Amino acid sequence: MSSTAPATDSTAPERGDAPAPLLDVKGLTKHFPVMGGFPIKRKIGAVQAVDGLDFSITEGESLGLVGESGCGKSTTGRLVTRLLEPTGGRISYRGQDITHADRKQLAPIRPEIQMIFQDPYASLNPRQTVGKIISGPMEVNGINPKGGREARVRELLETVGLNPEHFNRFPHEFSGGQRQRIGVARALALQPKLIVADEPVSALDVSIQAQVVNLLQKLQKELGIAFLFIAHDLAVVRHFSQRVAVMYLGRIVEIARREDLYGNPRHPYTRALLSAVPEVDISPEPQDAAAVGAAGAAQARRERILLTGDVPSPVNPPSGCRFRTRCWKATERCASETPTLVRIDGNGDQHLTACHYPEEPADLAVPGARKSL
Ligand code: ADP
Ligand code: MG
Repeated sequence: MSSTAPATDSTAPERGDAPAPLLDVKGLTKHFPVMGGFPIKRKIGAVQAVDGLDFSITEGESLGLVGESGCGKSTTGRLVTRLLEPTGGRISYRGQDITHADRKQLAPIRPEIQMIFQDPYASLNPRQTVGKIISGPMEVNGINPKGGREARVRELLETVGLNPEHFNRFPHEFSGGQRQRIGVARALALQPKLIVADEPVSALDVSIQAQVVNLLQKLQKELGIAFLFIAHDLAVVRHFSQRVAVMYLGRIVEIARREDLYGNPRHPYTRALLSAVPEVDISPEPQDAAAVGAAGAAQARRERILLTGDVPSPVNPPSGCRFRTRCWKATERCASETPTLVRIDGNGDQHLTACHYPEEPADLAVPGARKSL
């Protein structure tokens, strides 16, 4: 364990009130080799898919992970579930270092960390009945619940809002939304503590998206399951995640509690993403009124920001701040100095931003009140 964390906040006690994280990720990195050359292939470069992520998730909490396609979200999900081997950094789960844990070491943890995939068509075996699909994880792990597996399958079908009598049907007999519910039931079969949901509603009709998000939210609340909820825009995670991390080209550029991120975005990229969020909210719930209100007010102030150009290649990312090639505020400093993810004056204590020229805090964003930089 490293005990050399920079003393940026000397008044903070080492052991605060915050519960120990369920998942803790430090400096997480995944570089995929790029092979080339003839006649002998060798490594000629690397896709820097994930490049030094720091985040944690506490028990029962949902962290949203948002960013454009190709920024490394799925890779992050696959690293956390250890479907991929990290190139660098550290992953601990319930205090145990699982960064390079092998199959045997991972066996007791596997049931506790489950994944829900984006495509409910590709992720279910078309030749297996729903009952077989959902009981698969129980079989693999040799788990025999009280009352038998079939009873457990029926119970799970009911939990996810499907007819428990349909356990003998095949995936093609269900709609997209229903298939995703089957995927959710399968993920729940082993009573996980953490679910990595990789764009679980992106492939679904907008009208169905809210229903599936509501289901996941219900499970989070009622079963106390923690989520890493991956999405490509900020609309979907708004009502689901207590905290949100925004990724750009393999790095987290901003991470904050939901109300701070939506109401007071400090990174230009977050601001651009927010300006593109449609006015319609997915599944507004009464207890979210404050967050919706804050976000709504902030949105009213916001003009739409259209990002020009494409996301640069992660094989050859820009020096310094990776967002600088698309940022309207970029200077030479942004090319030479990589901004670190830090707390900026006026930010909440959990609000971190990686930018040399952050947006003004929302309460100062009035003409004539420019913050000196
Ligand atoms: P996202 O889920 O945010 O769309 P991904 O994590 O899927 O992003 O991909 C991040 C980058 O890593 C992309 O440039 C992608 O092409 C690359 N990548 C993902 N998986 C592999 C792999 N197995 N081999 C090489 N490159 C990969
Ligand atoms: Mg993806």
